[in-house]
Amino acid sequence: MYSGGFYPYDTQEEHWAYWSRYIFINRYQDAPKPVYNKLLKLVKGKDYFVLTTNVDHCFQKAGFDKRRLFYTQGDYGLFQCSEPCCQKTYDNEEIVRRMVEQQHDMRVPSELVPRCPVCGKPMTMNLRCDDTFVEDEGWHTAAERYSAFLRRHESSKTLFLELGTGYNTPAIIKYPFWRMTVQWPDATYACINLGEASAPREIEKKSICINADIGAVLDALEK
Ligand SMILES: [Zn+2]
Repeated sequence: MYSGGFYPYDTQEEHWAYWSRYIFINRYQDAPKPVYNKLLKLVKGKDYFVLTTNVDHCFQKAGFDKRRLFYTQGDYGLFQCSEPCCQKTYDNEEIVRRMVEQQHDMRVPSELVPRCPVCGKPMTMNLRCDDTFVEDEGWHTAAERYSAFLRRHESSKTLFLELGTGYNTPAIIKYPFWRMTVQWPDATYACINLGEASAPREIEKKSICINADIGAVLDALEK
């Protein structure tokens, strides 16, 4: 699905037939496993904060506190102007459901192609793929909350728990976690990742790397 998202469709009608189904499955249907719910149980009552590059809203759907969450790369559930003419985002659930229901022959009806209510240009997903990404008010508020959380915890006992972060955008979670683990006196870095669990030598003594399925490890932690 992810690779298909890069395909240059000839028409907006085909583009939205693909993307409406993509958004519907990944954003509006439930996650196939209760991994997020298990994670929430483990952090409940703790002073936690979630930094994520996921754009599927699964943390919110599982009940994580919105004020303890920074989704850095956007949200499939939001549209923005493709230009963009202003720093605004729009909830897309209703229009996405209509595009899924009304498409035929891999095309949505032309009147359902979403357009910016301000300038009339085509809409696009609020996803960071280039410098047109709109950082709306919610994004900035979350960014500030994350910075404040880090400032508050610099000298306290902190666990940087990294779950399934690969090397697609390591500069957002992985590298900063490594750097803070080096710099913060009482920090521990834990990485759970099936096939890619590692830490640099500089933080070897402060690291726990588990090469396993995240759901299985959270199960074991719960028990
Ligand atoms: Zn616009």
